[in-house]
Amino acid sequence: MKAFEATQSYFHRAADLLDMPDNMRRLALTAKREVQVQVPIERDNGDVATYIGYRVQHNNARGPMKGGLRFHHEVDLDEVRSLAMLMTLKTAVVNIPYGGAKGGIAVRVRDLSRRELQRLTRKFVDAIHDIIGPDIDIPAPDMGTGAEHMAWIMNQYGKYHGFSPGIVTGKPVELYGIPGREEATGRGVGIMTLKTLSRLGRKPQDTTVAIQGFGNVGSHAAKFLQEADCRVVAVSDHTGACYNPAGIGVMDAIRHANANEKLLTGFCGAERISNDELLALDVDVLIPAAIGGVITAENVDSIKAPVIIEAANEPIRPEADAILDDRGVIILPDVLANAGGVTVSYFEWAQNRQYYTWNLDRVRQELDRVLSQAFEAVWDLSRERDTPLRTAAFMLGIQRVAKATMLAGLV
Ligand code: GLU
Repeated sequence: MKAFEATQSYFHRAADLLDMPDNMRRLALTAKREVQVQVPIERDNGDVATYIGYRVQHNNARGPMKGGLRFHHEVDLDEVRSLAMLMTLKTAVVNIPYGGAKGGIAVRVRDLSRRELQRLTRKFVDAIHDIIGPDIDIPAPDMGTGAEHMAWIMNQYGKYHGFSPGIVTGKPVELYGIPGREEATGRGVGIMTLKTLSRLGRKPQDTTVAIQGFGNVGSHAAKFLQEADCRVVAVSDHTGACYNPAGIGVMDAIRHANANEKLLTGFCGAERISNDELLALDVDVLIPAAIGGVITAENVDSIKAPVIIEAANEPIRPEADAILDDRGVIILPDVLANAGGVTVSYFEWAQNRQYYTWNLDRVRQELDRVLSQAFEAVWDLSRERDTPLRTAAFMLGIQRVAKATMLAGLV
């Protein structure tokens, strides 16, 4: 099943419970605008290389469209369309004044030099600058992109439209970024994990955690949870995983990865296992924080964790999701679990417009407040309607978008 089909199936499950009519479903499922562009660059050796870029602007009923820009070789229109729709729901679930969008370029980041990546990013802005804007659609980091790409976007956009720091979020702190944006998604995952444990009556010090993926999200989630006394027993990158039942030294792992092109290869103090073995560990909490579609009908029977926190977008395929639900596994869905990033993006964007910045403590405090409200709302709705948390989160998001659509008189 492709990504957008999966998102649609979750959508219909929630829409059924809301008795949503077909015409409103069609409106909600159709993107406002989908753009595919050619992105040709000159390689460092003088050759020309052509990439395909996408921006899907899903919905703006609740505000300007918001969502990351992904550089990954598996990016295609279907995936970006699905992720854009998830952004519409994510911003609605945490109740920040945005719609949803997503962008991507199909590129193997490791094959390009930093200068080539800069050219690629700027050429993409050349191709889409007239359809984005601080009040229209605001990109941000996603898989394969980070603060420096955002700085290039701001700079390139400014060449067409003048100085506009609010065109993009996740910028370097020195260039109109906000302290705490980089850690925000991982920290939010950590906050949500602790809230889930508390609702289940479990103590962090009695909790073991396995985290798949040690990029920005996985590493910050690991750090936060270890500081909160959870035992992080496994972490991984795309080459394999490190497992230590006594607990991984997360800060050592972060230092190792930083010194080794973000890889854990060669990290001591842990046994080397595969990513599949990590997913199948007998831990209390499993956090997929890497790519989509890692828990499927094929490997779902091996999953032992009773709690799964979706730090990545779409890590569980619907066939597997249904089986895990039947088994009573608690799944905190992506649109809630990883919403910390876009929440701090909102703080950054709002403050860019006022030329004012909060300090890190304030950012963390406000992040906690926004995420707590969203968590409580989804958890309570799930108990009230006796549905999985994903369905409850989708119901909440869909209702908020539908309400804004009706109020604005768009239909
Ligand atoms: N790419 C992140 C996400 O999937 C962040 C989006 C943003 O900050 O706009 O939520």
